[in-house]
Amino acid sequence: MVTPSSSLLTLEQALATMLDAVAPVTVADTENVPLTEACGRISAESIVSPVNVPPFDNAAMDGYAVRLADLTPGALLPVAGRALAGVPFTGQWPAGSALRIMTGAPTPAGAEAVIMQEYAQVDEQGVRFSVAPAAGEHIRRVGDDIRQGDEVLPAGRLLQVAELPLLASLGIASVRVCRRLRVALFSTGDELRPIGAPLAAGEIHDTNRFAIRLMLTQLGCEVIDLGIIADDAAALREAFRQADSRADLLITSGGVSVGEADYTKTMLEELGQIHFWKLAMKPGKPFAFGRLGQAWFCGLPGNPVSAAITFYQLVQPLIARLGGRRDWRTPPRLRARALTPLGKTPGRLDFQRGRYRLDDAGELTVETTGPQGSHVFSSFACANCFIVLEQARGDVAAGEWVTIEPFNALLQG
Ligand code: AMP
Ligand code: MG
Repeated sequence: MVTPSSSLLTLEQALATMLDAVAPVTVADTENVPLTEACGRISAESIVSPVNVPPFDNAAMDGYAVRLADLTPGALLPVAGRALAGVPFTGQWPAGSALRIMTGAPTPAGAEAVIMQEYAQVDEQGVRFSVAPAAGEHIRRVGDDIRQGDEVLPAGRLLQVAELPLLASLGIASVRVCRRLRVALFSTGDELRPIGAPLAAGEIHDTNRFAIRLMLTQLGCEVIDLGIIADDAAALREAFRQADSRADLLITSGGVSVGEADYTKTMLEELGQIHFWKLAMKPGKPFAFGRLGQAWFCGLPGNPVSAAITFYQLVQPLIARLGGRRDWRTPPRLRARALTPLGKTPGRLDFQRGRYRLDDAGELTVETTGPQGSHVFSSFACANCFIVLEQARGDVAAGEWVTIEPFNALLQG
């Protein structure tokens, strides 16, 4: 698996190589967690319903429960009792009578339809109906929605707001999930200082470790933060060893571009099998992927925008695969009309940051968020999508159609 460093690899080729190389590592090691702590976790087994939903036949409308045989034209039916949600009718229901019933109340045995109260004329003697209902009308039958024993969620599903209340409604109080993926993280660079630390001449704050940490936390990973590692062979070797012994995956930032790579490269060749790629994408050209002794490894470029975009496009799907997700989908792409010109040199797939909206005429439009340099992190702050400009494309004039990729929850909740 040697990639000539001179040739550029497409994003698709890189991603396919990564996803082919790895298998889920968390699925054999599961834990049972209460539903209230399961948000963001991944189901480890198929979840089947222990009950029928609805659990009993019940009224879908406020009105009257009837037997169809009693509904001769103009018939006056005495009202023999009532059923409310949570307060079933428990008496005898004589033939030739109706029951007052409210939405969600159990329909009594023998009820063949519920007639909406809007079609009922009531007086002291009883009730008359102005419609003839079909059999079963406005009755929700037991198990209509979910039958006991049906699979409600497969294994490998990310559990979130759409899934967990469904389980709660079935009376399920805990769920078996994959253990969290353990991800080690460090930044390399003598110029880096922790967030909030005073800066000497030539120093900058370590934004990448913070950004990556935020994304890892959002993805439900357990983060092993190894801090800032100086550009020093012994310190780097020790950090790689540490990470390899404790994590499923190590992510580093910096030190993979030309000029610096040799250092890291020699060491990584000693410790594992790593491929340094030049990706045909912008930002994000230098990227490393491979395996240490037992942990997988991703080396992100140092520029903050490049680091964030390579994380989003390559590491995010890798984490989904390693972490046991089977429901990962590549973020969908849409077509939008560019409102602003976009500078682009042919040769690499370009991920510019943009803001899309549906205009008053119902057309999807997008505009740039400004300067797109790989050090300009502010271009993210007001963006809601990537503008994905194809490899061969050159400058885009205002009014041209472009492809956009709306941010998923990782960048925008
Ligand atoms: P490198 O990939 O190490 O050559 O770094 C490329 C550029 O990104 C340089 O300007 C670095 O100072 C900057 N950089 C590297 N790591 C970080 C980091 N963790 N946070 C912010 N900027 C960084
Ligand atoms: Mg560096």
